[in-house]
Amino acid sequence: MILTDQTILILGYASKRSIAYGIAQQANAHGAKLIICCANDKLTERAESDFNDFKHVSLYTLNVEKEDDIQKTLHKIHQTHPNIQGIVHAIAYADRTALQGDITDHISAEIFSQAQHISVYSLIGISKHAPLLMPNGGSILTLTYIGSQRAMTGYNVMGVAKASLESAVRYLALNMGKHNIRVNAISAGPIRTLAASAIGNFQEMLKANQACCPLPGNVSLDEIGDSAVFFLSHLSRGVTGDVLYVDHGFHACAPSF
Ligand code: NAD
Repeated sequence: MILTDQTILILGYASKRSIAYGIAQQANAHGAKLIICCANDKLTERAESDFNDFKHVSLYTLNVEKEDDIQKTLHKIHQTHPNIQGIVHAIAYADRTALQGDITDHISAEIFSQAQHISVYSLIGISKHAPLLMPNGGSILTLTYIGSQRAMTGYNVMGVAKASLESAVRYLALNMGKHNIRVNAISAGPIRTLAASAIGNFQEMLKANQACCPLPGNVSLDEIGDSAVFFLSHLSRGVTGDVLYVDHGFHACAPSF
């Protein structure tokens, strides 16, 4: 129970398949109290039943596209939870038309900006309030994908956003260290979620991943959740500005022949 007496804020629940849900399950199993933020009231209602069996869960609605919402909701959370220890940012969005074909096929300045705003700026916008929310230091964790480092068919504008997100992790780590706040990312292997279903050739991505991974099968929510617990706990107190690949080794290996 390495997260006993800790309160963790998790943003990005949409369903029981969400990486946010997998992280919430493992964090709760390790004793953490949870604050869950959903993008709209409908998802918050769904969370009420999905988190019914969890101990110590508070639910909030927060649309990160609205600057005011970030400030208002995080300050509201601070009033009832004045000392939290971890923040998980498991949020990404890009118009699904841009996640198929070539990067130039369906892109526009608007689609590009919205992907950056929701998937990247939100991490910085939320981190701005991290010293208030975590007065005794803590851990910020986000989720990325290897499409940031390698061009992968169909990932397109989201690959550019994830490269930007990983850079934001390093800049935030640089600036948050003085508050004793660490900032890291997990680069997860492909996993079937709502966000993943927007990627045109996700099925092929899963197959390609399996063909190259030294560990059998695809990554599970539990595996990502367990690595997240490491980042949220004191066990990672010496690690910041880093990206950990939880992808069954895909990033390290070429296809077998
Ligand atoms: P998901 O669809 O379950 O989660 C994405 C979340 O982003 C949803 O809860 C959605 O409501 C939220 N979101 C979108 N726009 C928002 C807004 N304006 N305000 C607040 N929240 C908003 O999918 P997921 O796969 O669990 O995604 C979580 C994170 O993991 C994302 O950053 C994703 O890129 C990353 N990731 C996913 C995979 C994968 O294969 N599923 C692999 C690597 C990284």
